[in-house]
Amino acid sequence: MTQQKRIAIFGSTGSIGRQALEVIAAHPDQFSVEILTAHTNDELLIKQSLQFKPNIVVVADEKKYDRVKDALANTQAKVFTGEDALEEAASLDIYDVMVAAIVGFAGLKPTLRALQNGKTVALANKETLVVAGDIIMRTSSENKAPVIPVDSEHSAIFQCLVGEARNPIEKIILTASGGPFLGKKPNYLVNVKRDHALQHPNWAMGAKITIDSATLMNKGLEMIEARWLFNLKPEQIQVIIHPQSIIHSMVQFEDGSIKAQMGLPDMKLPIQYALSFPQRISSQFSRYDFRRPNTLTFEEPDVKTFRNLVLAEEALCRGGNLPCILNAANEIAVFAFLRNRIGFLDITEMVERTMNKISFIQNPTLEEYFDSDGEARNFAASMIQM
Ligand code: NAD
Ligand code: MG
Repeated sequence: MTQQKRIAIFGSTGSIGRQALEVIAAHPDQFSVEILTAHTNDELLIKQSLQFKPNIVVVADEKKYDRVKDALANTQAKVFTGEDALEEAASLDIYDVMVAAIVGFAGLKPTLRALQNGKTVALANKETLVVAGDIIMRTSSENKAPVIPVDSEHSAIFQCLVGEARNPIEKIILTASGGPFLGKKPNYLVNVKRDHALQHPNWAMGAKITIDSATLMNKGLEMIEARWLFNLKPEQIQVIIHPQSIIHSMVQFEDGSIKAQMGLPDMKLPIQYALSFPQRISSQFSRYDFRRPNTLTFEEPDVKTFRNLVLAEEALCRGGNLPCILNAANEIAVFAFLRNRIGFLDITEMVERTMNKISFIQNPTLEEYFDSDGEARNFAASMIQM
């Protein structure tokens, strides 16, 4: 029997976190759960902890600490609370692989700690790479701590690159479903509401990424994520709309050959691959059937309507703290949209105005990234109060 990999799930109560636990539950001989963390969902965190028996449990929200601690009093789990506890847990030596499944900027510090600690990171939290991709990738290589993508597109590219270490990439083709508003124009989008935007045609995900998929900011963030993971130039990254989400992304090599990774849309597959890498292990996930009548289609994104792609490309090309600013403004705007405080098209407007407002820094330090994030959040939030 191979040795069990010891897993730490940061953000275990979210969409990715829950699916990671499903994968682990299906392979108890391969994986053990050592750390679970959540923000506010104490009930689910307690349930998961009783089932998976981690040694460390962190509930970031201090108001939930007593409930979690009491509920786990008769288990071996040590319970902690607060933001610092997330970093301290990431610094422990009791795990092999961190599943980085916290959403947004909040995932940056624990992920960085895991890499400094020499741990493998199965990265779902794309915002971490958008904000500070240079620091993350440098820390990864300095500490020989691999970053393995969980995001389905990046997992697809990663899988296409197995065995191709010496072969330069000509370009990558990132596929996008187009989200629920594919083909719609601004006169329609101006009126769309939260509940409609939360209906994704192909994927069931957390609220933030579902809105990002509807605005296409998700694909913009993924372009920046790909730039860092695969060390690409902006012109090597192409986005194509593929509404069926069967081809998860592609790599084109110098000889013109294109490799694609395919399958039904199910995040458990890239999660499992990130955990089992370099091996593949069996799964019961549904299989794609080529005999069923279905057509795979591709089209160019409508960047006139979905301008977030243009903003993200600008951030990608100029670099520095601009992707961090874009991300911060987007987090504030998406949160405001989810609370019905702003309209759908205001999201892009707020991101653009914040990018124009906050001072550009070409080579920021980690502190400067934190400052830029704070400034951008404050400026974006000030637009909501108007
Ligand atoms: P989610 O909202 O369902 O879950 C987020 C998790 O993070 C929860 O466990 C929550 O407790 C925790 N969290 C949130 N704010 C926190 C904070 N301030 N401090 C500590 N913990 C906090 O999100 P999700 O859909 O699972 O997405 C997680 C990440 O994975 C995102 O970065 C997303 O872009 C990426 N991702 C998700 C999917 C998907 O299918 N859901 C696919 C690709 C990439
Ligand atoms: Mg994705």
